[in-house]
This record gives sequence, C-alpha cells and structure tokens, in this order.
Amino acid sequence: MEYVKLKEQLDIYLKKLFPITRSITGEGNRETLRILQEIIPLQILEFPTGQKVFDWTVPKEWHIRDGWIKNSRGEKIVDFQKSNLHVVSYSKPIHFRGRLSEFRDKIHYLEHLPDAIPYRTSYYNEDWGFCISYNDFQKYFSENEEYELYIDSELFDGSLSIGELRISGKSEKEYLISSYICHPSMANDSLSGVLVTAFLAKYLLENREKLEHSYRILFVPETIGAITYLANFQKEMEKIDNGLVITTCGGTGKFGYKQSWEKDNFINQLIEDTFRESGIEDFLIYPFDVHGSDERQYSSQGFRINCATITKDKYYEYPYYHTSLDNLDFVLAENLEKSLELYKKVVMKMDKNIVYRNRYPYGEVMLSKHDLYPKTGGAILPGSSVSALEIILNILFYADGECDLFEISKKIGADIELVYREAKTLEEKGILERV
Ligand code: ZN
Repeated sequence: MEYVKLKEQLDIYLKKLFPITRSITGEGNRETLRILQEIIPLQILEFPTGQKVFDWTVPKEWHIRDGWIKNSRGEKIVDFQKSNLHVVSYSKPIHFRGRLSEFRDKIHYLEHLPDAIPYRTSYYNEDWGFCISYNDFQKYFSENEEYELYIDSELFDGSLSIGELRISGKSEKEYLISSYICHPSMANDSLSGVLVTAFLAKYLLENREKLEHSYRILFVPETIGAITYLANFQKEMEKIDNGLVITTCGGTGKFGYKQSWEKDNFINQLIEDTFRESGIEDFLIYPFDVHGSDERQYSSQGFRINCATITKDKYYEYPYYHTSLDNLDFVLAENLEKSLELYKKVVMKMDKNIVYRNRYPYGEVMLSKHDLYPKTGGAILPGSSVSALEIILNILFYADGECDLFEISKKIGADIELVYREAKTLEEKGILERV
C-alpha cells in the first residue's frame, strides 16, 4: 500500500467520520466502529437492550432517518439532512402542525453564539426537540405562523455497540485506554479522541513485540457504554490500576491534562514530565473532579482506576464546545498529530513502569560477580545526571516488590527509560523478578 503520512491519514478519517450520526446506540456507532476497523482490528461487541448493567439498563436502540420543520409555505426551514445536530439526539418520532407557542420549549438555540447550532440530547427520558442557530430562529420563526414538525425516528429493542481491542504484551498487567463514540458531527468533542485512540492503538500494535504491559482499548458510548462494559467485564476491569480517557485533544488552544482521581498517582507526574520533555512548559492542569467523562465510571469505588486525560481545548472550556462550530475548521489533523505524539510518549513511559522485587534482599549483590559493575565506573549517562552504577544501586535498594520503576526514577532524578534499561539487565541476570 502506498505510504500515506500520518497527518494525511488523520485528515482522511476526520472527514470520513465527521458526518456520521452517532448517539448512545444505533447504526451510526456501528458504522463508526467498522470504519475504525480499517485502522485497527477492533472487535464489535453488542449488548442487548434491557440488559441490567449495575444500576442501569441497556437502552433501546435509536434510529433516525429524517427530521425537519416546514413553514406555512411548505419550505423546510430546519433540515436534519443539512446537520444532524438539528434534531435532539435520541428524539422520539413526532409529526404535527402547530404555532411556536405550542413547541417553543422544544427549540434550542444559543443567543451568545448566534451562528452555532447547539448539541442537545435526551437519553433517559423519552422526549424530542430541534436545535437551530439563534440567527435562524430569528429569521424563520414568528408567533403567528403555523409550522409542520416531523421527526422520522425509531426507538426499538436492539443493542448497544462497543469497540474493543486487546493487545497482549509480556505481562498480563493491563492498562485501559478509552474513548467515547456517542457524539454526532463534532470534531473536538469527541472525534479527536476517537481518532487519537485508534492511531495510538495502531502504534501499540506495531510495537507489540516490545510491550511490557497489555492494553485494553475501548470505544464506548459515554457513561452507559462504560458502565455496560464494566458490568460485563467486572473481574477483569477490577484488576486494572491505570488508564487514559482520550477526548478533546484536537483544538487550537493550549495543551492541558486532567489529573486522575489520586493526585499523587504516577500517571499525573509522568504526563507532566512528558509535556516538559516535549518543550511544552505552559500546559494547563485540571485537578480531578467528578464532572467530565468516563473516568467517573472507571474510577468509581468498585474499580478505582486512575485515569488521566491530555487535552487541547478541554471539554467545557472552549467556546464551540457542544455546538456545530466544533467542526473541521476548528480541529485540524496537525493538532491531532501533536496530541497523538504526546500520548505515544506517555504510553511508552507507562509501559516501562514495572514493579520488581530484588531476589537478593540480604546485603548487596556482588556486582562484579554478575558482570554488572559498569565498565565505565561512575560515568554519567548521556542525557541525565546519574551514572548507570547509581541507577543499579538504587534499583537494588528500592525494588522491594512495591516500589515501582517510576518511583525509583523520581528518587534519583533519572528518566524512567534509563531506569528501565538497567532493570531489564538485572532481570536478565536473575537478580530482579517481576511482581
Ligand atoms: Zn460531550
């Protein structure tokens, strides 16, 4: 196959996936997952309507064919075919004629962003509605005119779709990487996250031979999808300690990251290190709070997975959030590529964070006997301020089955990649064993 640059591939898939009508359930989600299968070998899992998942129930499948409002002259003044944001996601079918006063509470617009069509959903109570720009509202609607309103949708017993890819590395210890696929035509929230996740997964697959950890990569509808997956794979998910929830990383604004629920967890420090190493000093820090995305489910009491999120124009924060202006003029493939490169670095560092136990806890091993005394003595390793000898001595001292390599790297001020390299040598010599 002809070599296509990463940025161009991101651009191709942005354009391909952007127009699809996604929701918490439905054919648009399946179509999205099938397109992602061109990038990575995803499994598409289906969970039937009505399945009990913890305190929730898998909802009905939603299908929409059309939706419009016609004025008294029969002209379409709102048309789902022009933007899938025009119909409130998960709207039930309707068809009637009426004056504005009879349906005014079903029309949504944003006075402060008069060109934008807002994004609205009505998932857990059966309702309907239309979303339009404030400019169009002023232009097309008046009190005395009669309108015809039509939504051709269907809610039926079907299933909820989740994309899953498991990549096994040397250890069965898994990391979670999750993104959500329930948003229709908006690029930063959430297409940016979907594509960065897919291409990060592709990168992990290409580097599979080197991976120390295993990876569980998920594409779920937000909240209900995460809960459905957790309920169906509870035992396996309980064993995961860390993860990434990838979203809103394609904007033009500053980089930032949302911390995992335990502020002192290594993943937060590791992300900050990665920013600084990449020359990004002025990144934003969002301390954990319960609002946000699926980290709330993954970090809930029964699971407590520490999930962080790198953002470039974080949800809630950018003015186009949840509107039609979150489009492909706002999100460019080159921004996605920058975020993807950061995520690759973060994951490759996370991957090397292994917990070892020194098999010789009584006194120090005789380094020269194991051919471990560095030939260069205490020479400083390139790109750091420590020597191989210092790293080895610290690993031997701290690797007690609890202290991980990241913690050791912090104690001595060396990059985890260097500490990992020396630890691997000690493991090969039979001095360290993995916990
Ligand atoms: Zn959103």
